[in-house]
Parts: sequence; structure tokens; C-alpha cells
Amino acid sequence: MKRRFHENYHPTEQQRSLFPGISGNAVNGLGETRRRQPTPLYWFDPDTIPHGRLQKYFYENAERFEGKRAVTSKMADQRGPENLDPVAALCQQDTPQNFASRVKEFALSHEADLVGITEMRPEWVYAGHAVNEKWIVMLGLGMDQRELAKGPPREEDVSSADEVSRQYNRAARAAKALANYIRGLGWAAEARTGPMSGDMTMIPAAIEAGMGQLGKHGSIINDTWGASFRLSAVTTDLPLLSDAPRDIGVDDFCTRCQVCSSLCPPDAIFADKQTVRGELKWYVDFDKCIPYFNDTLGCGICIAECPWSLPGVAPKLTQKMLRRRSR
Ligand code: SF4
Ligand code: SF4
Repeated sequence: MKRRFHENYHPTEQQRSLFPGISGNAVNGLGETRRRQPTPLYWFDPDTIPHGRLQKYFYENAERFEGKRAVTSKMADQRGPENLDPVAALCQQDTPQNFASRVKEFALSHEADLVGITEMRPEWVYAGHAVNEKWIVMLGLGMDQRELAKGPPREEDVSSADEVSRQYNRAARAAKALANYIRGLGWAAEARTGPMSGDMTMIPAAIEAGMGQLGKHGSIINDTWGASFRLSAVTTDLPLLSDAPRDIGVDDFCTRCQVCSSLCPPDAIFADKQTVRGELKWYVDFDKCIPYFNDTLGCGICIAECPWSLPGVAPKLTQKMLRRRSR
């Protein structure tokens, strides 16, 4: 397949000099057969992580676009989980089923495009961090694939980074609105928003909550939005009911497809599943991806070009894959 993006990309000497003495894949647990909590890797306080100098390089690169484009100001607008309403004194009661329905209805009428619920698990929480609530409500915010497909920025061009920033903002608003709704019912609730990683990794929770399956490009694929959506979440003690993981045929499709791995400029996407912290799964080479990601303010080629992400395609692909399975 023909490469259309930055053929023969190689990281600059400047970025190479910023790598620490440890591989990001080692931090991630690539090749480790024992289950363990994830270790903070990227999008944390850069002074606390081995790859913090590379993260600072991203920030500096983003500032280059200041004045020419709105990316950095939009990034700054992405709101953290602070300033939530107080928890109401009266703790309302209802069945878990009814609360789950009410939460979903509220989320879908307050910007979320997808919603799923599951129980929190310790293995999703970063080492040294804590999530105290029992349940997690995952929210999905659809992105405009046509905007994503504009690709990495070229100086004054518009690019996928603008759309990603817009949807991170929407994801933050949706999570905060839902957390405030639950707090108004008298129950603890915390909003968990990107792009900073926060206390937990969200993709495994989204998969457990029935939102989709992991694709070869390391992002979750949904049967409506493909890989073209962002995540945020609310953790809460409100009694809820779990959704179940759903097989929509992504695994079978990815086994035969090579679109993302062929188009990825630094060849960061493994052709086969890898063992990571005791789990066999699709995996992206962090050390190869991150310099290109930094230079392009977020890249996203693999998500935009994934066949599932094309408008209207994911529902048809799901039907086709499941029909093939039942033969
Ligand atoms: S581009 Fe193809 S291989 Fe990559 S995640 Fe999408 S479907 Fe899977
Ligand atoms: S985001 Fe990373 S893995 Fe995806 S295409 Fe870009 S460089 Fe490759």
C-alpha cells in the first residue's frame, strides 16, 4: 500500500536526545507475562515520568503553532475534573437498573454519543494512583472523521489536532455534567477527562462496558463510530448495573487488514498481538510512535484511515463480520 504521510520519517536528533535510558515499551510492560497495574508513561506531570522531556517537547512544538492556529488555546481549554458541585445531602434511592437507565439517558442528552457501565477494576488504575469509586460510566464522544482525515498539521494548515481538541473539550463537559447530576442525587462521583492520563487507563474499561473492541492500532473500535471517538468517564458509588463486553468482529477484521500498519509513518504498529502485562493484545510501539506523534501534534493517521472510522461503515462492517461468523 502506498504511504501518503511523511514517507521515510525519522526522528530528529533533538527528539532522539530526549529519550530516557528506558524504553517506553518496557515501562508499558511489553513482553511481561505477569499481570500488574500500568505504570504512568505519558500525559502525566512531565517532571514525574521518565519520558517527561519528550512530553515537554510536544508542548513546545504546540506553541510553535500559537498565533497561526488555535490548537494550543483549544488544548488549554480542555477542562480538568476540578470545580464539581458538592454532593447533595439527601442520598436518593432507586434500583440499580433504574439508576443505570437514568444515568444513560442523562449522558446521551448531555453531549455523549456513547455510554456504557462497568465495575471498576484495580488493574486499570496506574501504580501509585487510586480510584475509590465502585462503578465507572464510560462516555464516548464522536469525532468528525473528515476533519481527522486532514491529517497532521503543516504549518498554517488546519489539521486533525483541532478536531481532537474540540472533542476532548466536549468529552470533559459531558463527564462533568454527568458527575454533577449524580452528585445532585446525593452520591459520590468524579469526572475523568483527557487528554492528561489521570488515575486510570480508560480503554480497557470502555471495552468491558461494551463500547467496542481493541483494534490493531491500539484504539477502541465501536460499531457506530469506528475508531473515530474520544473517551471520558465518571466513577461513582451510585448503585448501577454492568453492561457486557461485545464482540463486533474487530479481531477477525484486524487479523487480515493492514491499513493502519502500512500507513503509520514510523512503522509503529505491530502486525501481530503482543503480550503486555500478562495479556495478549494489539500493541503500538511507543518508542517509534511518540516522536512522530510529537512532531505532528497528535498524528491520528491510524484512527482516521481505519476502515471502521469512515462515515457509515462501522455498522455495515459489524453486520458483515458477525454474519460471516455465524456461517
Ligand atoms: S486499520 Fe485495519 S488493522 Fe488497523 S485497526 Fe483498523 S481495521 Fe484493524
Ligand atoms: S498515531 Fe502513532 S501509531 Fe498511529 S499512525 Fe501515528 S505514529 Fe503511527
